Amino acid sequence: MAIHAQAILDALQTVLPADKGPYPLSEPRFAGNEWEYVKECIDTGWVSSVGKYVDRFEQDIAQYTGASFAVATVNGTAALHISLMLAGVEADDEVMVPALSFVATTNAVSYCGALPHFVDSDRQRFGVDADSLADYLADIAVIKDGHCINKQTGRIIRALVVMHAFGHPADLDALTELCQRYHLQLVEDAAEALGSFYKGRHVGHHGLIGALSFNGNKIITTGGGGAIITDDAQLARHAKHLTTTAKLAHAWRFDHDEVGYNYRMPNLNAALGCAQLMQLPQLLFARRELTEIYQRALDPVAGVKVVTEPEDSKSNYWLHNLLLDIDDSDQRDEILQGCHEANILARPVWTLQNKLPMYQGAPCMPLAHAPQLAINLISLPSSAGIGGRG
Ligand SMILES: *Cc1c(COP(=O)(O)O)cnc(C)c1O
Repeated sequence: MAIHAQAILDALQTVLPADKGPYPLSEPRFAGNEWEYVKECIDTGWVSSVGKYVDRFEQDIAQYTGASFAVATVNGTAALHISLMLAGVEADDEVMVPALSFVATTNAVSYCGALPHFVDSDRQRFGVDADSLADYLADIAVIKDGHCINKQTGRIIRALVVMHAFGHPADLDALTELCQRYHLQLVEDAAEALGSFYKGRHVGHHGLIGALSFNGNKIITTGGGGAIITDDAQLARHAKHLTTTAKLAHAWRFDHDEVGYNYRMPNLNAALGCAQLMQLPQLLFARRELTEIYQRALDPVAGVKVVTEPEDSKSNYWLHNLLLDIDDSDQRDEILQGCHEANILARPVWTLQNKLPMYQGAPCMPLAHAPQLAINLISLPSSAGIGGRG
């Protein structure tokens, strides 16, 4: 079916009038205690790597997500790096990661000295496609001494990273079952998914361990920041240790018992995070409201669908997306061009990870959906409150 770029643009402009723009993809909103909390850090001198806001933020994140433990980090990529290390990922292992993801997912695997092995995503939830991955593993993998071995490379496939794209939870039940069957650790890249629930339970701690991000474009922000969440006390302790230079507690000695990282979140950033987290319900509500606004405007237009959450899940609607009924990227780019001329700063999704120069040689399963999704998806301005501007 042919889509009508102009009809899509016209519909978008009823929601996002050009004279009230520009409309960035995702802007932060500070409407609570941010100023007060950050000022307190400056006034008291507690701006850096320890302080009461770090402890409070970790407790607040654990409480909100229902995870037993949270460890705040300097960003989401660092949280993912440590999560993979704690999942036992070692040099020369393979780690299955979605080709349809942000580069940080793949880079975190490389930081461990491991190789990414790219997998497909499904067309409904945009997360790792459990069915085709099951078929693929049946083909290429064998279990030996409790490890999943890639028969083609001889390497251990240690873990599967599941990413909840745009905040829509991946099919965690199917993926958990698959990981159990193949002796893979399930690590969640929940960077985009604070406020997203799979079958009533917050994402990020359905597997062993997971990572959140509080970058400036995410649903809440600490400026830069992230968190590791887990239900395992020992992993949580080790995560804290590894992210704080592996220093042994002592009043004055500098003793470190392994190679650690300076990945802790400063108190200044945690202060911002505490204030932001208090507003999460309103921020989620605004994101959800925007879904309906986009739907009302776009539903009458042929060849395009506003993406909605999976039926079994609650999405945070971090990014709103259009799914276009097209076969080549030229038509998509025509729409993107028109959007930008109209002050609507829409974006295509990420370049597939297996197409990036540093990852072109990495193993990759046959991708039945991801390349098509990369052509069909357009991310729309999604900031809280923008639909109400017009
Ligand atoms: C934002 C993001 C990250 C990384 O988070 P940073 O805080 O920017 O390091 C990782 N994975 C995905 C899918 C993301 O969207």
